Formats: sequence, structure tokens, C-alpha cells
Amino acid sequence: MRTEILGVGFDSLTKAEAADKAFSLMEERRAAYVVTPNPEIVMLCNKDAGMMEATRKADLVIPDGIGVIYGAKILSRPLKERVPGIELATELISRLPDKNKSVFLFGAKPGIADMAAQELQKKYPGLKVCGTENGYFTDDAPIIEKINAAAPDLLLVCLGAPKQEKWMLANTGKLNAGLMMGLGGSLDVFAGVVQRSPDSWNRLGLEWLYRLIKQPSRIKRMIKLPLFLFAAVGERIRGKKQ
Ligand code: UDP
Repeated sequence: MRTEILGVGFDSLTKAEAADKAFSLMEERRAAYVVTPNPEIVMLCNKDAGMMEATRKADLVIPDGIGVIYGAKILSRPLKERVPGIELATELISRLPDKNKSVFLFGAKPGIADMAAQELQKKYPGLKVCGTENGYFTDDAPIIEKINAAAPDLLLVCLGAPKQEKWMLANTGKLNAGLMMGLGGSLDVFAGVVQRSPDSWNRLGLEWLYRLIKQPSRIKRMIKLPLFLFAAVGERIRGKKQ
């Protein structure tokens, strides 16, 4: 049973439980997929039926943003823990070398996935990166062919929302891969071209503020956070009246 927050069902798991679940999905090798909605994405799901469908059909739905945790509290449906997608991916990647499993990095601007591969291999010696591909393409077919030839255990799909979620739903049946994860701008972070907020900010739930200071142009996207919290309060009030 998922915990529903404004129409989006979340799996309530600790970080460790989410990593174990994702790893076992990867071992099933059926190109299952993970989505990591934050408040902005929950709001998007309520506007875009295709995005909502791709989120509902995901095999694992984890709360990426602290805002989702607050929304869940407002609705008295607490989720165990915030599980940032990039942290879940990092945990899985760290486990790959010992198990002789591979990762394919798909998305971001040309050259970024290769830089991310180099950085990750420096950090996790023995990591097998079985392929990379940038996220600016017009035809899925050659990309699917390339991924299937590489047969990755883990496939990071970093095209931004809703493109990555729709891509994963549309192609899950065609792919020879273990597990896919939709991870937004994570390859830019792995490559070192975008800095993730420091741990001290993350612990305080202020990652969004750090990103806003670094990229003020994100204000249009971030305005969705208070809207999401208002919507959660609205749903709670409606629920109490019924
Ligand atoms: N991107 C892509 N193909 C596209 C559009 C975007 O590969 O057609 C990439 C973009 O280069 C960036 C990522 O998708 O690396 C989206 O990053 P953003 O910061 O918007 O995602 P977030 O982490 O906020 O979800």
C-alpha cells in the first residue's frame, strides 16, 4: 500500500530499506523503474495525466524533497524518511563493483555522462560503466539498441521531469536492463559541473534554498513548493469536513 500525497502514491521506506528494495528490483532484471518526486513533480502530476500515469506505474516511488515529508505530515500520513534520488543512486552504485554489476549513464548535455563516468570510477574503483549517452535526441530506437547491447544492471535516466518518467514507462518493455532510475540533474552533479548542497544544509532540509541561491532562475519552479503545501493544507481541511 502506498501513502497518497495529493494523488501521488509514495513508498514509505527508510533510505536503507529503499536501497535494498531497489537492489532486489535490479536483480529481477525486468527494467523496473524508480521515480523520485519532489513537490514540484507532485504538482506536475496533477496537471499532466501522462506524468501521473508514469509515476503510478513506477515500481518504486520515493520522496525526494523535504517538502513531500512536510506535506505528508500535514495530511497526517507521515512517510518514514526523505530519500534523495541521488543518494539512493550513489548507494546502489557503491554496491555494483563487488557484485560485478554495471551501470549505464543516460542523459544531460553531450560530454557530461562521460565526465560523470570518470568521476564515479575514481570514487568507486572497479565500477563498470557499460555505456553513456547524452539526453538530447530525437529518436529512441538507436538509444534503446545501444542500451540493450550494453545490457546494464543499473540505468540512470537523467532527462528531467516529465521527460524521463514518460521515457521509462514507454520503454520499460523494450529494454534489456536491470533497473532504471529517473534522476533529473544528477549526472551534472556526478560530473562535478553542478554542486550539491552541503550536508549541513541537507540535514536542515534546506537543499532547495541552496539551489535557489546558486541558480536564482529556479524561482519559477520553486514557487511550486508553497503551492504544494497550501494544497496539502486544503486537502486536510476538506478531509476533516467530510
Ligand atoms: N536534460 C536532458 N534532455 C532534455 C532536457 C534536459 O538530458 O531534453 C537534462 C539536463 O541537461 C539536466 C537534466 O536533464 O542534466 C535536468 O536537470 P534539472 O536540474 O532540471 O533536474 P532536477 O534535478 O531539478 O530534477
